Amino acid sequence: MDAIFELDFDALIVGGGIAGLQAALDLADQDYQVAVVEKDTSIGGKMIRLSKVFPTLDCSSCITTPKMAAAAHHENITIFTYCDLKSLQRDGRVLTASITQRPRYVDPDKCIGCRLCEYNCPVYVADKEEGGFSARKAAYIPFSNAIPQIALIDVENCMLCGKCEKVCPTQAVDYFQEPENFTIRAKTAVLATGFELTPVENKQQYGNGEIPNVITSLQMERLLAPHGPYNRVLRPADGMEPDAIAFIQCAGSRDKSMGISYCSRVCCMYAIKQAMLLSGSLPLADITIYYMDIRAFGKGYEQFYQNAKAMGIEFVKGKVATIDAGENGSVTLRYEDQNGAGVTSANHDMVVLSLGMIPGWNPEGTCPVSTAADRFIHTIRPKIAPTLTDMKGVFVAGAAAGPKDIVDTITEAGAAAMEATKYMATMETARKAVA
Ligand SMILES: Cc1cc2nc3c(=O)[nH]c(=O)nc-3n(C[C@H](O)[C@H](O)[C@H](O)COP(=O)(O)OP(=O)(O)OC[C@H]3O[C@@H](n4cnc5c(N)ncnc54)[C@H](O)[C@@H]3O)c2cc1C
Repeated sequence: MDAIFELDFDALIVGGGIAGLQAALDLADQDYQVAVVEKDTSIGGKMIRLSKVFPTLDCSSCITTPKMAAAAHHENITIFTYCDLKSLQRDGRVLTASITQRPRYVDPDKCIGCRLCEYNCPVYVADKEEGGFSARKAAYIPFSNAIPQIALIDVENCMLCGKCEKVCPTQAVDYFQEPENFTIRAKTAVLATGFELTPVENKQQYGNGEIPNVITSLQMERLLAPHGPYNRVLRPADGMEPDAIAFIQCAGSRDKSMGISYCSRVCCMYAIKQAMLLSGSLPLADITIYYMDIRAFGKGYEQFYQNAKAMGIEFVKGKVATIDAGENGSVTLRYEDQNGAGVTSANHDMVVLSLGMIPGWNPEGTCPVSTAADRFIHTIRPKIAPTLTDMKGVFVAGAAAGPKDIVDTITEAGAAAMEATKYMATMETARKAVA
């Protein structure tokens, strides 16, 4: 299918997580025209899905939503959500991105976000935004502070009853919408494609993700969120309030059996944060963190760790070898206690896997930018210019370049925006010299 329209911008940002939004805002505030291309239905990345953030324990959605809104309302930023980047190539001085807009089956220009389609849809589907713990409809707005507030229809589950079409006050529902291809031309680009969690399905010793009441760290973020699926922390398999909760560190980092030998850097801190938040919601619960080493690397992080210990959270030095289903929905861990108890086992009501980070995007076949041995985007001067890729005029920010916390992500996004600005200025000077 040919591109149906072409658009020109100064800068293209791939990924609308906190790195992409910060880079977009920094460029747009300098009067550059910026396009943000996001594959998801909303901007905000992982940060909008977190409960609170270490080390300040700020409410994550309270500090992310204003950034999302600032980008969405900025006169120099155009946001394209639910889009697939098909190719990003350099063509002389210009970068050309071929993009496919996936169909929402709702006309974005007509949808007013009233949710009448959602309220009247009879189909319930597990809501991945809530860790799969609650349900959403087949016609839905992704989450309450999603940007844009445009509905979409999940055709995989829609039974074509026509109710959404009948109740829509603006006739926005369009069951025949097709994917649309378009092209963005830009002078520079920032890759901010972030991360995904290491796939627990690949870890047989941890039950391949199939043991009841063993959840991922992002699922725990949702359980702890004030507007989360149950409004409190409950065991997902039977709704019981857990009395003993364990965190397993390095579950998918520093683990050669999963092909991931690096440290994901944020897991120690997010587990400590979640443990502290849990002890607030369940003051009588026993909370244990099984760890190999605690890496509290950032400003104020060591103090945060010490505070968690003072609150009574138990830290057990030992790598968990196996996880098995126990009796009555409990979970049994087998591990070697490095503090002398040797190989032993323990039972918990619920277990959280502190999964590591893998790249959110593989550029192979889409964009000639190289990746490093860890498969994150390769940076050519990691010490003195950490946002430079080996593709001229293309920069990288945030977890796309490697595991990172929010502070480092924001800092790097600003640096990438500055490199992009410098690059455009150099190109302009060269153009004037030739003219
Ligand atoms: C459980 C958990 C808890 C955490 N808690 C904290 C905390 O308390 N404090 C803290 O400092 N850090 C925390 N972090 C780390 C934090 O989430 C990251 O630092 C931050 O999200 C990185 O932002 P990012 O924009 O680089 O990546 P992301 O948040 O992953 O955003 C990347 C965006 O790019 C999009 N994208 C990917 N590929 C493409 C593509 N090809 N085309 C278009 N779009 C694409 C994605 O859909 C996504 O929206 C936590 C991480 C986890 C896993």
